[in-house]
Parts: sequence; structure tokens; C-alpha cells
Amino acid sequence: MTEPMRVKFWGVRGSHPVPGGGTLLYGGNTSCVEVQAGSQTIILDAGTGIIGLGREMLRRSFAEKRPIEASLFFSHLHHDHTQGFPFFTPAFVPSTRLHLFGTAILERALEDVLNSNFSPPSFPITLQEMGSAKTFHGLRDTNVVWLGQAVGGVRVDEVGQASGAPANTEDLVQVRCLRSYAHPGGVLIYRIEWRGKVLVYATDTEGYVGTDHRLAKFAQGADLLIHDAQYADEHYNGCMVGFPATQGWGHSTAAMAIEVAQSAGAKRLVLTHHEPQYEDETIQAIERRARDCFPNLQAGFEGLEVIIGAEQVGQSHLQPICLDTPALV
Ligand SMILES: [Zn+2]
Ligand SMILES: [Zn+2]
Repeated sequence: MTEPMRVKFWGVRGSHPVPGGGTLLYGGNTSCVEVQAGSQTIILDAGTGIIGLGREMLRRSFAEKRPIEASLFFSHLHHDHTQGFPFFTPAFVPSTRLHLFGTAILERALEDVLNSNFSPPSFPITLQEMGSAKTFHGLRDTNVVWLGQAVGGVRVDEVGQASGAPANTEDLVQVRCLRSYAHPGGVLIYRIEWRGKVLVYATDTEGYVGTDHRLAKFAQGADLLIHDAQYADEHYNGCMVGFPATQGWGHSTAAMAIEVAQSAGAKRLVLTHHEPQYEDETIQAIERRARDCFPNLQAGFEGLEVIIGAEQVGQSHLQPICLDTPALV
């Protein structure tokens, strides 16, 4: 049996966290997804979901008696994708090594923005005072990132550069990004590949009439597509009482996510970045309706684990789900 890629959702809420009894099923923490590919720990976004992940990583580190090393990819730097970082406890541990990736559109944008967000008077300590070793990497969509021991931890290439791909990529994780303008200020969409397994993370993106062909091409053949689906159709269109129309706000409906998944030939679709004003039953209704069009779909929830390329099958809402079987939830 080949080793699977494991994907776990720690935060699936868009815009701001929502505690309370109405969000117990899907969770109220903002965006954070953990990916385990061989020895590599990859984190997608640092919304408040990363706080629980950080505690879990510390527990594992103590149990396994080895320091934490992880690569954190920011889709963009809106508040709901960064606000958990100052409470990510591994970042305070001197033995922790973090690689932080984000857009390189502005010079030193990632480090500067995080620095200005997390320093007095907004926050009592600075990024530098968080004791971990941190390396910042600005990405353009012409970059390919390789993660793994064979490249000394991290190597960032230009697509098609003369030196070519590293030798022996078998154990390396490849991460590519697509700069999308379907969200205010732009966003990076990530494609993670390891041993033939493919995950695409497309949050904070709005669909186009007839689908986002650029994104569908980028996501071609994905085993798992994680896609923004913040709004119910009637909300997006301005037909939901008490809610303004949201066209142009940079988020999708489930129908838009499905169009991308179908065009890309994705095997499974998880909807994320749920609207914070929706309680569980609204998200359940969106999920039910969407499954009629794309059966291998579900609305993401905190604790959901998707195992890509495994032969074991989870049986319930709270168990891991295998991509090679029909949806069991
Ligand atoms: Zn967001
Ligand atoms: Zn955003």
C-alpha cells in the first residue's frame, strides 16, 4: 500500500470566526488546512483554525521527541487568513523552523504585512520576538517550490529554468501557485503534488460565467479540490431577505465551485470559506443541493480528514474519507 497524502481541515469559516451553538457542526474558526505528505507538514493559511493545529503539532513534537518543521502557504493576507498566526504556539518555540510563503507582488510584502499586523500597539510582541526560526519566501506564479530533504528542505525554482527539476523527485513535494484576480487584491491558489497525488486549494475566489477556465486548467486532474463556496445562490444574486447581493465580492457559490471541479475533472470537491452568518442548517442545505450536481462533494467542517490514495475507508461524518470510494457521509 502506498503512503497516502493526508488533508485535515482546522478552519473552514470565511471572513471572521463565529463561536456559538449554531456552528457546532461545521465549526466557526477561519481558514486553515493541514497537509501531511511523507515527512512534510504543509499548512494552508493561518486563520484561527491554526491555533488548534499548533497545539496538536506541539503534542506530536513532544511525543515523537523531534522539533517542528513546517511550510506555511498564505493564499493572501486578508485578516481571516492571518489572524491565528500570533497564537500559533510552535512559532514561539526556538527549535521550530518555519518556511512562510506568500505573494511576491510587492517587495517583502509577506514579512512586512505580518510585521505590521503583529507588533505593538496591535499586538504586544513582534514577529522577531516569536522565538522560532522563520524564513520568508515571496512567490510568483512562475515559481515551483520543492519541499524535502533531497533539496535541503526548500528549493524555489522558476518554471522551465535551465537547471531543470531536482534529480529524484520521488520523495519531494511540489507546490505550484496560480495568481488569481478573482478576489480583491488578488490571491494565490496552490497545487500540491506528491507521488502522483494532487490537491488544489482555491479559497477566496469568485467564479466567472461559464467557469474560471484558467483555474480549471490549473486544477486539472486533482484528486481533491478545495474551493470557496461562501454564498448560497440566492444570497449571491440578492434574493435572500436581509442580505445584500455579493457579486464582485470575491467569493463563489457551490455551483461555481462545481463548474470548476467538473471542468478540471477533479475527483472530489470540498467546499470551504463558509459565510459566517450561516448557521449549520443553511450550510447543510447548500451541501445537499450541491450533491445533486456533483455527488463526490461535501461542505468542509473542522476535523474533516481526507486521505488521498489510501485503501482504508472512514464510515462517518467525523471519520477520514477515502477518495477511491463513493461519499459515505
Ligand atoms: Zn477569506
Ligand atoms: Zn480574502
